[in-house]
Amino acid sequence: MKISSLVTKTSKTIPGDELASNAQLLIKAGYLHKEMAGVYAYLPLGLMVIEKIKTIVRQEMNAIGGQELLMSTLQPRELWEITDRWDDKKVDNWFKTKLNNGTELGVGLTHEEPVVNALKDYITSYKDLPKKVYQIQQKYRNELRAKSGLLRGREFIMKDMYSFSIDQAQHDIQYEEIVAAYLKIYQRLGLGDLTFRTYASGGIFTNKFSDEFQFISPIGEDTIFIDEKLKVGVNKEVFNDDNLKKMGLHKNNLVEKRAVEVGNTFHLDSKYSDALGMYYHDQTGQKKSVIMGSYGIGISRLMGVITEHFSDEKGLVWPDQLAPFLCYLTFIADNDQQIKKTEKLYQDLTSLHIGVIYDDRFSRPAEKFADCDLLGIPIRIVINQKTIDDDQYEIKLRTKKELVYFNYQELLQYLKKKGE
Ligand code: ATP
Ligand code: MG
Repeated sequence: MKISSLVTKTSKTIPGDELASNAQLLIKAGYLHKEMAGVYAYLPLGLMVIEKIKTIVRQEMNAIGGQELLMSTLQPRELWEITDRWDDKKVDNWFKTKLNNGTELGVGLTHEEPVVNALKDYITSYKDLPKKVYQIQQKYRNELRAKSGLLRGREFIMKDMYSFSIDQAQHDIQYEEIVAAYLKIYQRLGLGDLTFRTYASGGIFTNKFSDEFQFISPIGEDTIFIDEKLKVGVNKEVFNDDNLKKMGLHKNNLVEKRAVEVGNTFHLDSKYSDALGMYYHDQTGQKKSVIMGSYGIGISRLMGVITEHFSDEKGLVWPDQLAPFLCYLTFIADNDQQIKKTEKLYQDLTSLHIGVIYDDRFSRPAEKFADCDLLGIPIRIVINQKTIDDDQYEIKLRTKKELVYFNYQELLQYLKKKGE
């Protein structure tokens, strides 16, 4: 990609009503457009980051046998009446709308009912279980406060998975498999060290705890207590002596922290399957309840968390695996020799499928470098008169101060390894 053909530009101004530093930075760098409070559009660079996060999530969901599907956003009222959720006062953040003839619809905020309804004719025998399905989709919630940029959207991107099992024992195996996949995902995103599996309230249907995946950060809305040695946390909402005993944790080893919920996993028992008539027949032909779980990951919230966690005073800082381009490439002077050499390297990197954005503008070097920093591109490669004379390439990492020089072969080897 050449910067001259990119549809967005960096800018110094941000909407005055944008208070969240993740959204401010992403807007300045041209990754995000603010439509209104809690609603953002992903511009080309922003979409590239979202897609990279999704790919990591997809790979890990597929690796444990998850099958991807895509449910609809518009949902019939009747489905939610069956489980008494349509008028549930606890679900206070639902967008609802109407057809021309007055029929009421719900706008998707979670999908337990629709998923069970769609799969109940396929899951009828013990031979059909266990199964898990997931989707990556926009969700809509009429959140009261939407002041945290991508951390709390009214329209946001979620990965939600649903598991189906013959009994609690099979459910527990699936559940732990999914938890392990979640921990791998946070690791691959570069958030592993600060993400804690955290006990949280189980909700209304089971007496088990649910698990939240909490990323320790001062910008978090949640208060949790962590045991750093055991790498587990306890949400404040279930923090009491009785529960600590059940969890095998000791008050003295726990430290209070602020954290952002970047995912959660729930035991649902058979609340939704029973209500919507999903049953299976066991070996003896007996009709039995299907045990379910549901599992969310906030894809767009993760982008906000990653933005804030890694950025510095110069702008965005993407980890290699999430950057829209691994390298930024440019020349210093408007001279044929430099431009030719830069274009040649641009072609070579492109044909090797190494992500590169080529700054082909004739602006001042300081301005170009400031853009490279703001955009958060991990590796800056510069061609100048000295590098041409020495037949070398000048490299600077976004997170380091030093300049490093490579010859052509060393450069390619280095970039190929980085891009793996
Ligand atoms: P929270 O406690 O933050 O309100 P939740 O418990 O309602 O979230 P779920 O409904 O289980 O969350 O959604 C799964 C995941 O989706 C959450 O763990 C979170 O990462 C993300 N998420 C939830 N609400 C939002 C939102 N309004 N904006 C962005 N991400 C969200
Ligand atoms: Mg929550």
